[in-house]
Amino acid sequence: MDKEQRTEIETIGEFGLIDLIRKNTTLKHPGSLKGIGDDAAVLGPTDLVRVVTTDMLLEGVHFDLSYIPLKHLGFKAVAVNVSDVAAMNAIPTQVTISIALSNRFSVEAVETFYEGVNLAAEHYNIDVVGGDTTASRSGLVISITAIGEAKKEQISYRSGAKVNDIICVTGDLGGAFMGLQVLEREKQVFLSDPNMQPKLDAYPYITGRQLKPDARMDIIHELRELGLVPSSMMDISDGLASELFHICKASDVGVAIYEDKLPMDKQTYDTALEFNLDPITCVLNGGEDYELLFTIDQKDFPKLEKHPDIHFIGHVTAPDEGKLLITKNQTAVALKAQGWKHF
Ligand code: ADP
Ligand code: MG
Repeated sequence: MDKEQRTEIETIGEFGLIDLIRKNTTLKHPGSLKGIGDDAAVLGPTDLVRVVTTDMLLEGVHFDLSYIPLKHLGFKAVAVNVSDVAAMNAIPTQVTISIALSNRFSVEAVETFYEGVNLAAEHYNIDVVGGDTTASRSGLVISITAIGEAKKEQISYRSGAKVNDIICVTGDLGGAFMGLQVLEREKQVFLSDPNMQPKLDAYPYITGRQLKPDARMDIIHELRELGLVPSSMMDISDGLASELFHICKASDVGVAIYEDKLPMDKQTYDTALEFNLDPITCVLNGGEDYELLFTIDQKDFPKLEKHPDIHFIGHVTAPDEGKLLITKNQTAVALKAQGWKHF
């Protein structure tokens, strides 16, 4: 939080705060007929179907303000919602943002949070059209709803995977999880001796993956240009294995994925070893990478074959073949979905 200036929220009040949020917000979509300022936002008619998704983030459960700066948090809160819209193969258009604040937060802190929100709104070309602001007795609570649109036939559900489809993932996996391990470790070091400065310089990629995730809208736009609709799609928020289980269940199929095809960054690999963790377990079960997991029909493979950031990790099988990981020495082992346990 900004130490230079601190304005208590009570000096400008809830409406003053909302005014400030509104002043820093611009509307880009013709469909955003009315944004912040009335009892409800008004969204214009469109011949496309709409997707709507909400995510709630609680301090102490989903984020820790001792290592995520507020501006990053604002960006990330929007990005994780955009990622859910992307996972439907839709284009995000609007978000609403609700925040519950304790008196620990100043006006400047809220402004910093919204700087991140507005940066994300620019980056993903979406409008902030409303929200709610209220007091919290404990930590910061953020709830974001994102709206997106697509042609009906462009929507990718979890249920559309077919036997022999190719399983694709974007980017690399496990980095956000390893980044979190590093941030947690350095926090403990700092708590036990505040004179110790956190050593994060050696882990720029993975700490960035944790603090500054980017929803893969770039891939969604590319798929559109290629005229390719994935047969099924999800974003990877809870871990690859867990998301594969969702697709298997919704599509009534099995999967076979290959250990040597799983995309991992070298820093993720090295850090996993440093923490005495199995790198493959991190790739399979680490959450919060916000990459895309999707399946395509084999006939679409040539369109993506040369893509530098899409990896083909396996194929869809009949449901009775189960969910298999083929290890480097060609042994088939049952895939386990540990995922993130929130409760
Ligand atoms: P109400 O009392 O009807 O809930 P509010 O005074 O909470 O209305 O909200 C007034 C306007 O400001 C609405 O358009 C609402 O969507 C918007 N708004 C409130 N809080 C936020 C926020 N944190 N971020 C963005 N817009 C907000
Ligand atoms: Mg309200």
